[in-house]
Amino acid sequence: MPSPSYCGICGAPIRWTITEGRKRLAVDAQPHPDGNTAVSRDGRGTWLSRRPTEELPLAPFEKLHMPHVATCTGRQSSEPAARCLGVISLDERRSARGGRR
Ligand SMILES: [Zn+2]
Repeated sequence: MPSPSYCGICGAPIRWTITEGRKRLAVDAQPHPDGNTAVSRDGRGTWLSRRPTEELPLAPFEKLHMPHVATCTGRQSSEPAARCLGVISLDERRSARGGRR
């Protein structure tokens, strides 16, 4: 059994998973009925996560978890999401301008 991990920001128990894109994604350790990430375990004990789709809905061996970034409490007050949105819209503006020229 892998030892439990804890979020370095809020201290909540989390589970590190590997996404289909081979990236590390921290999800809440406990399954969540409103979660949008299907978490399963492969034959080597690695936790895998993916987004359920209409073509590949949640399988019986998968459980829904929340990505921890969605529930992390240590971050929301000091780092509002608006800052991230501002960066995204700046990028979009830049690429839109470049596309017109
Ligand atoms: Zn956290």
